[in-house]
Amino acid sequence: MKEFTIEMWQKDVENQPVLVSACLIGLRCRYDGKRLDSDTIKMVLNFLRGCWFLPVCPEQLGGLPTVRPPMEIEQGHGDAVLDGHARVIDSQGTERTAEMILGANETYRIAALVGAKVALLKDGSPSCGSHLIKHKGRRIKGEGVTAALLKRKGMVILSEHDLRKL
Ligand code: SF4
Repeated sequence: MKEFTIEMWQKDVENQPVLVSACLIGLRCRYDGKRLDSDTIKMVLNFLRGCWFLPVCPEQLGGLPTVRPPMEIEQGHGDAVLDGHARVIDSQGTERTAEMILGANETYRIAALVGAKVALLKDGSPSCGSHLIKHKGRRIKGEGVTAALLKRKGMVILSEHDLRKL
């Protein structure tokens, strides 16, 4: 994939609606109900200054509560879940595939309603991860369910790690 540059940010993000993982701007929507570290939140808000951004939490949009047990994609990554080849299971053994797909679809629905073509998503999540997800507690390369769906729809997906490189 082409490396994202500050010029692309200025061209593609400023003056356009951008979806943002709600936890990246400090909302307590994470599985444990805790806020992300303040350095990450400050960096993200700094980049978003002047942008029209919409916070979304795909897991909440899929009907899951906060607090909730952490989840992992059992095998493969987001594309495999969307294609029906992999399941999402929480730490208590409950399958959450349907909620994760619903959350991805609802997130795309919001993107389509406002015409957003860019999403800034929290990496490492089974929903929002764009470079990394977790498997058996370890970080592996892969995409979450929402990131995979938004990418299929042609959106540019960035993570907080991409912002650090700009
Ligand atoms: S990573 Fe995505 S799904 Fe998880 S809490 Fe943040 S916004 Fe919600």
